[in-house]
Amino acid sequence: MNFEEFNLDPSIMAGVKALGYTTPTPIQVQAIPPIMQGRDIIGLAQTGTGKTAAFVLPLMQHLLKLPRGRIGAAIISPTRELAEQTCEAIDELGQKTGLKSISVYGGVSMDQQIRRLRSGVEVVVACPGRLLDHLWKSTIDLSHLEVLVIDEADRMFDMGFLPDIKSILKCLIKPHQTLLFSATMPADIRRLVQETLHNPVTVQIGHSAPVASVSHTLYPVKQHLKTQLIIAILRCYDTDSVLVFTRTKHRADRLAMQLKREGFKATALHGDLAQNRRQAALDDFRDESIKILVATDIAARGLDVLSISHVINFDMPENTDAYTHRIGRTGRIDQRGDALTFVTSADAAVVREIETVLKAPLERRTLKGFNYSAPAPEIAPARVQRPLIRRRVSGQGAGRN
Ligand code: AMP
Repeated sequence: MNFEEFNLDPSIMAGVKALGYTTPTPIQVQAIPPIMQGRDIIGLAQTGTGKTAAFVLPLMQHLLKLPRGRIGAAIISPTRELAEQTCEAIDELGQKTGLKSISVYGGVSMDQQIRRLRSGVEVVVACPGRLLDHLWKSTIDLSHLEVLVIDEADRMFDMGFLPDIKSILKCLIKPHQTLLFSATMPADIRRLVQETLHNPVTVQIGHSAPVASVSHTLYPVKQHLKTQLIIAILRCYDTDSVLVFTRTKHRADRLAMQLKREGFKATALHGDLAQNRRQAALDDFRDESIKILVATDIAARGLDVLSISHVINFDMPENTDAYTHRIGRTGRIDQRGDALTFVTSADAAVVREIETVLKAPLERRTLKGFNYSAPAPEIAPARVQRPLIRRRVSGQGAGRN
């Protein structure tokens, strides 16, 4: 199948060509025709499958038929980074359409967003909290909305956004087409689908197993040796861009600093950083001036950097879904990737879960020449340790994301 068969407007096809897309991905083949027919869609697909273009292309086709200067489509995203990326995809694919989009999220000036909204846009890509703020202040007009996209619904549920989504849905009075994308289908999302979507078409790419173009390896290691092991691995493996996941913001900061001290071009990405620092970290990672990004789960959501060669789970993800999301950052379209996961004895249950989903045992590897039996650092006597503990508590840096 090729893109011509979708009969997209020539102005949209110009964007497809400019981005160098020649063949639609499986999710695009399955999702674009029913979306163009106006059907509601449940898209079960991970990032890296081409799902953004799967909804952006038919959505733009629809918007071209509508009057300009009013919001015809809204896309709800779990994170600012994903909102920005989606907006960029719209700008690039729609470069010849004249359609205007805006990203709307918290942590930045509301006034600036209001000015942009007043100047007339056709698509808004928004995080739930800030979108609600605008709705409650009547600074956004969704009364002409024709298409609503709920992107990465499972992640929004994980982040506690479900009540916000429901409040947003209550504000949408006009009947509209709803497209819901999710890598997994937890019970609450299933319920949301039943309550919200009308006779939806389900489009599923694979199932929620991690992408097949990724090799999965486990590195059993004691907790206290993880930092030395990652340094040794980064020194001896041929890596391009590496995304490292830690369990907490504090661990992300600390590991990024330790890697920098060892001479690696590394930085941290997590939700405590100001928006401009997060964006700078992402930009540096994209243009490869930073080679190692140490991130928490939520901060790395939707991260679209095509050249990620390795994902390293410095800390085991909480469950298979989180593993799938993390691993989805590598092995993207037409590329291969490697996923390395550090496991301690406490991680056995999640490992079993992942092996069940992958339907195969994961390969366990050890790094040649690495001293796995190095002792844990001695614990200092309580008198010396006290000020350290106090500093940690006042820093409050160990929360998630
Ligand atoms: P997504 O799953 O939407 O995050 O897309 C992952 C990456 O695939 C993005 O960089 C897209 O630009 C790219 N992509 C999307 N559709 C295609 C296609 N048909 N051919 C090649 N690359 C694509």
